[in-house]
Amino acid sequence: MEDDEIIKMLSEELLKGAKMLSNYCPKCGYPLFEKDGKIYCPVCNLKNKTIYRREESKKPEDKKIDLDIEEILDEKIIYLAKKLKDESEVSRIKEIGEAIYILIKIKEKIK
Ligand SMILES: [Zn+2]
Repeated sequence: MEDDEIIKMLSEELLKGAKMLSNYCPKCGYPLFEKDGKIYCPVCNLKNKTIYRREESKKPEDKKIDLDIEEILDEKIIYLAKKLKDESEVSRIKEIGEAIYILIKIKEKIK
């Protein structure tokens, strides 16, 4: 799954009224969400639906868990900030803004 898709999905969860928790999914490392008293991981939920097709194209590096999360977050924030700079559509600005907000939140939590 593309990072863009994940970020978009996480911001959509927030827009749907879900609350981002300070706990992280042990499987994917993205924050867990809570809605209507249910705690869930939107990333894994979606992955489970597409897991069979995705599994085949998985590279071995994907299984590494010793990734520098903070470095990745920084990269993504910069990437999104650049996108935001060129964006003129209000809905996209909102979407990108939400995504940056989520990434900064995650950074704060892992410090
Ligand atoms: Zn997950």
